[in-house]
Amino acid sequence: METTMKKIQMVDLKTQYEHIKTEVDAAIQNVINNTTFINGPEVKSFQAELEKYLGVKHVIPCANGTDALQIAMMALNLQLGDEVITANFTYVATAEVIALLKLTPVLVEVNPDTFTIDPAAIEKAITPKTKAIVPVHLYGQCADMETIMKIARKHNLFVIEDVAQAIGADYTFADGKKVKGGTIGTVGCTSFFPSKNLGCYGDGGAMYTNDDKLAARLRIIANHGQSVQYIHDDIGVNSRLDSIQAAVLRVKLKHLDEYAAARNKVADYYDKAFANNPKIKTPARAKNSTHVFHQYTLVLNGVDRTQLKEFLASKDIPAMIYYPKPLHHQKAYANSAFKDSDFQTTIHLCKNVISLPMHTEMDNETLSYITENVLKFVNKS
Ligand SMILES: *Cc1c(COP(=O)(O)O)cnc(C)c1O
Repeated sequence: METTMKKIQMVDLKTQYEHIKTEVDAAIQNVINNTTFINGPEVKSFQAELEKYLGVKHVIPCANGTDALQIAMMALNLQLGDEVITANFTYVATAEVIALLKLTPVLVEVNPDTFTIDPAAIEKAITPKTKAIVPVHLYGQCADMETIMKIARKHNLFVIEDVAQAIGADYTFADGKKVKGGTIGTVGCTSFFPSKNLGCYGDGGAMYTNDDKLAARLRIIANHGQSVQYIHDDIGVNSRLDSIQAAVLRVKLKHLDEYAAARNKVADYYDKAFANNPKIKTPARAKNSTHVFHQYTLVLNGVDRTQLKEFLASKDIPAMIYYPKPLHHQKAYANSAFKDSDFQTTIHLCKNVISLPMHTEMDNETLSYITENVLKFVNKS
């Protein structure tokens, strides 16, 4: 690289940390001083602050986003053989927990523009065994929750929102009511993995719900199925957010909206640079959701993606493929019931998507360098 530009990363957690170092260091030191490593006051404070931020009655912290999904499904008493509908185009964790609990993952198609689960495909997949829908708010914007909730009410289904990539996104209903993604369905499940929009410095996750009874059950399941100390009416798991992570999250939650704004500025820069290029489709904005740009993902048209990625790498520009393989092509989730002909969009996306660096610390010099190089390769293709 010919300039003094900082090394480009998909996510720059180090520079972000430097801006909040004083606060974060003090918060971590405070937990160590108090030695309240598990279930310390930081966890309760974070929980209350996140409830307030999200406008939801209950936040139940846990150890990671995958656990959040698993605990939610356990708390809803889903049984062997119950069918759970989710998107074929998602991170594996969504389908993994369904299969792990011996429920049946029913994978369905996504919308080619917003990349989120297609409500028409959900309706088509419903059978008498269907018990739940798991919409994934992929890349940072909410699925079509209004339609999904209508379908769920009609068929009496639970809705478990996988909001691991979209914490903070706002969803607006047709009547103008605005709520945070993850607080619409039966339960929302999120992740605080370091690279997520609200990331801690290790693993973390949470569930959100407005249902008092369900909240109590989620807490019990997350704590060894224990209602009263040493009384276990349910089989549970051990899944906790530790106090040091909660302390970091309390600092970062205060910046979450500002982080989303920074990500949107990056997205706007990319959008403008790639506008009207027939070989690049920039990400569409969903009608009813704000976008918090966990990822900025292009769909290429007639461009050799592997070569583009290699070209960018030669210029010290990282790029990632989220996700290279439809779940129904993964050995663990393959099932003769899933036909390629039903997944043309998912298959097309898996072949043609590419995600560019997206984080809270990007400057215009870096963005100009990235976009010029992407265009240099694409326009030669
Ligand atoms: C990250 C992620 C998860 C899992 O979160 P972990 O904290 O890594 O367990 C689940 N679903 C989606 C869509 C994710 O992006």
